Amino acid sequence: MVATSTVDIKSAHTPSPQSQGAQDATIKDDTIKTPLSSSVGPRLFTAGSRDPQFKIEAMLSVLHHARVKDLYRLDFKMRYDRTRCKRTFILQKNASSDPPFRTQLSHNTSSDEVYTLVLNWMARCTRECKSHCRYVGQEAPRWYPARLISLKQLKKADLFNSNAKDKSTEAPDVKVNLVETKEWPNQRPSDNVRYVTLSHCWGQGVTDQHKLTSRNIDTLKEGIRLSDLPQTFQDVITFSARLPRVGYIWIDSLCIKQGPDEQDDWLKQSASMDRVYSETFLNISATHASDSQKGLFRPRIPELLLEDEITLNIEGLPGAHPPPPENVVRTAAPHSLSMGQKIIHLLGVRWLFRYVFILLQSLRGRLGVLLSLVQRFSVRTKARAQAGSHNEVGAPHRSTLGAGISALRRSSTKVGVLNALKRSGTGISDDSDTTTPKAEAERHNLKRCTILDASFWSNRVDNAPVNRRGWVLQERLLSPRVLHFCHDQVAWECCGFDAAEGLPEGMPNFQLTSGGIIEESRLKGLDIKDGARLRNIRLNDYKEPDPQLRPEIYALELWRRIVEVYTRTAITNSEDKLIALSGMAKLMDEKMGSKDASFKYAAGLWNVHIESQLLWQVEPVWREVDETFDNVSTSPATYRAPSWSWASVDAHRDHGITYGDITDKDLYIKVEKVSINPRTMDNVFGIVESARTYIDMWCKLRRAVLYRKNPISKGRFGWRLVDRKGLDTKEHTNVYLDCPSDNAHNNMFGTDHEISRVFVIPAAKGPRIASEESKYLTCLLVQWLPGHEAGAAVFRRIGITKLSPWADSEALARRKDEQGKLVGDFKILEMLESDVNMPYENYDPVNGKHMIRLI
Ligand SMILES: [Zn+2]
Repeated sequence: MVATSTVDIKSAHTPSPQSQGAQDATIKDDTIKTPLSSSVGPRLFTAGSRDPQFKIEAMLSVLHHARVKDLYRLDFKMRYDRTRCKRTFILQKNASSDPPFRTQLSHNTSSDEVYTLVLNWMARCTRECKSHCRYVGQEAPRWYPARLISLKQLKKADLFNSNAKDKSTEAPDVKVNLVETKEWPNQRPSDNVRYVTLSHCWGQGVTDQHKLTSRNIDTLKEGIRLSDLPQTFQDVITFSARLPRVGYIWIDSLCIKQGPDEQDDWLKQSASMDRVYSETFLNISATHASDSQKGLFRPRIPELLLEDEITLNIEGLPGAHPPPPENVVRTAAPHSLSMGQKIIHLLGVRWLFRYVFILLQSLRGRLGVLLSLVQRFSVRTKARAQAGSHNEVGAPHRSTLGAGISALRRSSTKVGVLNALKRSGTGISDDSDTTTPKAEAERHNLKRCTILDASFWSNRVDNAPVNRRGWVLQERLLSPRVLHFCHDQVAWECCGFDAAEGLPEGMPNFQLTSGGIIEESRLKGLDIKDGARLRNIRLNDYKEPDPQLRPEIYALELWRRIVEVYTRTAITNSEDKLIALSGMAKLMDEKMGSKDASFKYAAGLWNVHIESQLLWQVEPVWREVDETFDNVSTSPATYRAPSWSWASVDAHRDHGITYGDITDKDLYIKVEKVSINPRTMDNVFGIVESARTYIDMWCKLRRAVLYRKNPISKGRFGWRLVDRKGLDTKEHTNVYLDCPSDNAHNNMFGTDHEISRVFVIPAAKGPRIASEESKYLTCLLVQWLPGHEAGAAVFRRIGITKLSPWADSEALARRKDEQGKLVGDFKILEMLESDVNMPYENYDPVNGKHMIRLI
């Protein structure tokens, strides 16, 4: 049975509402309002029972970019019953008309071809990344971890000269052994001096046998048979032993003592974890594997990695290109085409099929009914692969899907769509030879494009199981080079470039985010100049709002991004939240602290311009099912970080937290003192103690009551000022609570201020890039903790709220002078006599400011 599809092509793309502001600097999509909607199902999928539940939608739009010309965005949505699947591609016009050089691709990522490709990337990194990638040009690391797994026996066994395909099965009886580097007689090994590291998910695969303890350390030093290790360890060990001059591998569970009795070793070794990764020659990431039994390598259908070009016909796509030269007569033919033909005209159809095939594949598990279709596709793909070059223009192949497809398939050849249409008898006249002005016009509209999978990094790498682990972010960022073993191919990440098997010459840095497509948002590099790049991208066309803060704003921009990515990962042991990030904090401190002694770490934030960093926020999650805002963030059962730090909250993994917009302007709070009390001086970037961790701050306290809006408001909150004449009847609803489900403090809700003790603190105007009239007033929401041992005016943060110039205009009203010019502060900031009756450590009667302590 073959399902019938509907293809709707709308040449319009609406950016997501989340792209508001400069949160994600999107490349501007042209506003294209011409929908081309049609059903060409029977043409694409040959006869079979009609299945109205199966639907494919595609949207094509032009992307405007300051430097890159001829960019298009193609969004695919596929729906079958209740299952949905979405993919976005970017089409970029090729610089050359020659097809890319391709080697044969293998059926497994364990193959020699993959290994050779990795060697090529390593060579390129050594050649080109001189100033970027640490370790380059240096044979041995400057430092070795305390323990390593020696690959000596595998190196000796010379396993890799055989022609066998599966390397991992060749060495079951070979042993690897643990070495302690302090026992090395001459300090350093003389050959095979490099060591590599592994990033992996432990899962159930790591049993006690694969964990180093004081009891089994001698056994492991004698050696453990390769076949006794989890599959991922076996694979990574055999792969590493093959790499030139690599003699050792560091695997966390085998090189740090594990278990409740081994805390001392754990604390000692974890303090130098950053060094383990920054000195590694290569970090090998079992990116696709959700546990250590899954292995490093994966089978794949190589043909799916092969084709990455189409000929796009942009005729009829508004905003696609400037008008043609005047002497070229524009052909009227396309306009007389049927809608279905137009769609075929817009896309290289064979390419479309390939991606429909991929989409189907990703749905296959859930869609048994479509299985037969998938199989037919794979037959066809195979037939094509056997036919050789994907540029063939010969006679159409007979395929199981019928003549229509065979003809259309050739639409990705250079001559392109028009010829395909001619041969399939769609009624285009045959007079378009290459010399007439009409042919000129047609050529003008045909763009040979490379297809870039905009979801590549997010699908295969960023959201892959291993990168959901909090610990892995620093492993990935601190290593000079990372080799990702993804579910269907390998990918490369170093400070200098990215590459993947599908695009071995490098992945252009376009990425898909909730806000649209952003350019070059990759983090790897961790240099101040990377911070500058991130900031320029985020600000897009906007003028730098804080030029006075250069260059430290770039370092803070980098930190902002690190935190935003990190808060989307999960940490098994809640206490590790700051520890698993401490390597990066240490690196930032080395970079910034060396230049500026006042640059100090403060429990996940930095004390420079800390006021604006206090304004991080947790986004509630919108649930489409019942149209409710869900506040899914949680707080740990025991103290982990001060309430003013994002590290005190575990946010939803798809959203993370949004870091404050760093500035020293338009602020209404002033931090007087930052006090941090690290648990151990061995790691001042790690765990903090609640005692003596606080900030003292000048601010204007305003009494308020906070409440859940009634049930129909669906997870929303509201607040009102208390005893503030003219303002206290007005409800404000733009509320972002850190953790409203936090039972320990749920007395914050209620209309009795004496019980809830909620205060609002006007903090900053923003967003920074907004015009003066459209800036919001961001306020901290805090709760007073009377009777606290740390003082009379101790507060904890419970969230933030934003007052809008439109919805909350009374609070943001300003007085006018005689000429009608706006003067003075927002009404909510005006002093009242009653302001003296607040909890405070100190009061400034001239400015009406309170000194409070936030813990
Ligand atoms: Zn490199």
